[in-house]
Amino acid sequence: MKIAYLAESPADAAALAMLTEAILARKTEPVSHSGLRHRGWPTVRTVLPAVLKELHYHTDAEGFVLIVDSNGSPPHSKEHEQPNASERKCRLCQLRRIADDVRQNVRPRPTLPLLKIALGLAVPTIEAWLLCGADPHVTEAAWINGLKQGPMPYSKRGLKRKLYGTSHPSLDLETEVMMKAASRLAENLSSLEQLFAQGFGPLRDGLKSW
Ligand SMILES: [Zn+2]
Repeated sequence: MKIAYLAESPADAAALAMLTEAILARKTEPVSHSGLRHRGWPTVRTVLPAVLKELHYHTDAEGFVLIVDSNGSPPHSKEHEQPNASERKCRLCQLRRIADDVRQNVRPRPTLPLLKIALGLAVPTIEAWLLCGADPHVTEAAWINGLKQGPMPYSKRGLKRKLYGTSHPSLDLETEVMMKAASRLAENLSSLEQLFAQGFGPLRDGLKSW
């Protein structure tokens, strides 16, 4: 299956591809696109419409998978999915609104169905997902509790130190460690499903609906 990936770094995208293949239980063939040159929030949000149109009209991509880090923004919640309840500050809700808008306004593709889309939100960063099951203190609930009543259970920099052994890993080290962690999670997604349900759940459900 031909899939385009977008995440905040090439290492993130490689880990995302491994998780996607584990969820879909099949190999995927990556499709390149101009969005790969852009990084980080809010750039991802800004380039998303153009990336989706490019993939829709100019590539044979069947699917598009995107994750962003929540950082300090509100985590996604099921309550946002009630009619007219989408949360303005939630990055997942923002990306969904953009994707829905593009999908409603593109012409049908001559030979391919509408691009399938799956979106996820790593709370607070993809390093937390990759530490899931390896460090029992790292959970979505711990972060959400911290946001509600403080203190924060860990920092983004602290998560990097836990995962890479340094808060400033080289791209090579980052990629190597991320791939190893993603392959551990790909063996068994249940801890990620349980402990990161609000941000990983939408990604899994999106992919499962393809
Ligand atoms: Zn939301």
